[in-house]
Amino acid sequence: MDIDLDKGKLLIFLGGLLFFTILEAIFPKRTRSMSWASRIYFHFSVAFLNTIIVRILVYVPFLYWIVYVESQGWGISRLLGLTGWVEILCSFVVLDFFDYFWHRFNHRVEFLWRFHKAHHADPEMDTSTSLRFHPGELFISSLTKAAWLFIWGPTAISWFIFEVMVSLCSQFHHSNIDFSDKIEDGFLWILVTPRFHAAHHAVDRKYGDANFSTIFSIWDRIFGSFQKPLDGGLATIEEDDIGLPQDRNLSFNLLEWILEPGMNRNLYLANLDRNADV
Ligand SMILES: [Zn+2]
Repeated sequence: MDIDLDKGKLLIFLGGLLFFTILEAIFPKRTRSMSWASRIYFHFSVAFLNTIIVRILVYVPFLYWIVYVESQGWGISRLLGLTGWVEILCSFVVLDFFDYFWHRFNHRVEFLWRFHKAHHADPEMDTSTSLRFHPGELFISSLTKAAWLFIWGPTAISWFIFEVMVSLCSQFHHSNIDFSDKIEDGFLWILVTPRFHAAHHAVDRKYGDANFSTIFSIWDRIFGSFQKPLDGGLATIEEDDIGLPQDRNLSFNLLEWILEPGMNRNLYLANLDRNADV
């Protein structure tokens, strides 16, 4: 992966962020209960911090690892002899499949949930929520991704395309855009949609412990975790129905938010009921 791909990835990321933020400002689904500026300030602070930490600890070793795995010919995709567009498409589907289970584990394994709940503590959901990930989660997930690279063996270019699409799809399904029922339902046959993912952020655990897919919604359908909001309808998850009520006070204090996975044992224990059987 050379520097141009890296710059391209950043441009697409920023472009997507701007595009979905403008769309949700013009066509909002849920009304806001807190100021947009304070949300943007906090979530951009998180993104800035994450960029520094991830760049220092993860990014460069990860690039070397991608190139090394490819040069060694490791992985199932290499064994199958996949090349060109077939390899890119297969890697896209397989890596999204891995992401589905990784996300599910993040909700089921106590240690992982400590970090992933930082994302779910947001009492609202909009495009900026897609920036809200604890650096600990990003660090741990990069180790898992390194293992996936070894197991599947995607080419550097297919990995790059997948990562770009994960960012764009995450911005899209976290956005607060008011699509019509028809458009939302149509998209949902293939992709994770804003209302479908809002259900994953719902206080009501019937929805919150479901809808783990990142790009393709098919994984939730296949593995029994597909929950359309409100029993098959597409009614909106309302603004008060999002987030983790017991963590509201920690949602927008950067220092407490960063330290929270290692603290507040009582709050953590209060969340253990989320760790039901996989
Ligand atoms: Zn989640």
